[in-house]
Amino acid sequence: MAHRVTFIPGDGIGPEVAWAARRCLEATGVAFAWDERPAGEAAIKAFNTPLPPDTLASIRETRVAIKGPVTTPIGTGFRSVNVALRKALNLYACLRPCRSFEGVRSPWRDVDLVVVRENTEDLYAGIEFPAKDEQTLTLIKQLKEWTQQPIQDDAAISIKPISRTASERIIRFACDYALAHGRKKVTAIHKANIMKYTDGLFMETARRVGEAYRGRLTVEDRLVDATCMQLVLKPQDFDVLVLPNLYGDILSDLCAGLIGGLGVAPGANLGDGVAVFEAVHGSAPKYAGQNKVNPTAMILSGVLLLEHLGEREAAARLERAVRDVLREGRAVTYDLKADRNDPAAVGTKEMAAAIAERLRHDKVPV
Ligand code: NAD
Repeated sequence: MAHRVTFIPGDGIGPEVAWAARRCLEATGVAFAWDERPAGEAAIKAFNTPLPPDTLASIRETRVAIKGPVTTPIGTGFRSVNVALRKALNLYACLRPCRSFEGVRSPWRDVDLVVVRENTEDLYAGIEFPAKDEQTLTLIKQLKEWTQQPIQDDAAISIKPISRTASERIIRFACDYALAHGRKKVTAIHKANIMKYTDGLFMETARRVGEAYRGRLTVEDRLVDATCMQLVLKPQDFDVLVLPNLYGDILSDLCAGLIGGLGVAPGANLGDGVAVFEAVHGSAPKYAGQNKVNPTAMILSGVLLLEHLGEREAAARLERAVRDVLREGRAVTYDLKADRNDPAAVGTKEMAAAIAERLRHDKVPV
């Protein structure tokens, strides 16, 4: 029977990379029944909201979606559709595998790590107070009284909730993922030496949860700043990383850089029984509509989708097709060429077509 999947093209470069991924997913021979739904700018035009209730309802029903990136205007306008989706569907875990690709220029050849980011709380919880607002001034006055700490009266304030519940849930998720995927080590990342209560709680939880995995996994913890340096110097020392939301967002991009950039970094947002697959990169508006950007990250997010659906053989074939095309380095987009102005670079559609074509010649189960 066909897999029912909600298909959200997104905006900016979203539709181009989402359709490229859809084309490659269909080329695996797996049957899909797509339910296409808008989000972002297209949805604002048609429904006056960036995240129409029907889009959410569709994901609630199909339990699985693949989504192109969506633009979040900075400072003004609507809050992030991505954050809203994660909250509404309780997609508490963000999974971002980073593996080196032959043929892709990068500082390292043998990176193989997985970033697991907590998706629901931390400074990304959206609890913010604008500068000079009446409520903010009241809050500042109260905080000064409670803490005896100086805070400028014209400060804006963001709240960083880190709970034992969400920390334990994400650390267990990372450990269970590590065990299920034959990985050996989970490193919990924090800044507990400075943020003793919030990051301290995350660190303590990692140590406590880690005890339950003793003998099966190494569970360690490290400071976020030291980890950034170590990742750049020796990424081979890491296996699965588990982080609160903000550090997770930043280190995902850092790790994408270790394997050749955002163009090749896939991702998944997972909750209990619901999953939304999307690239790490955003909507890169300056490239929208040019058939120029790299579809690899979205196509590899499609590989994660296939694995989630239990289509392991098709997932392996699609990943192999992507790796083959990257290794050959011919039918690839500008960002993967040694010279970004190389006239031999192909477009988004053409790269997806090359991967789909490769799949047609690879029908042998792995
Ligand atoms: P971005 O990832 O969209 O783009 C940054 C740069 O990375 C681009 O200018 C481009 O040079 C490169 N890049 C990104 N994707 C690429 C691809 N597929 N192929 C080749 N090069 C690629 O980041 P940004 O400019 O900070 O964000 C643009 C918008 O996207 C913002 O509104 C942001 O909020 C949003 N965003 C959305 C998501 C999402 O929907 N999940 C994720 C991140 C950012």
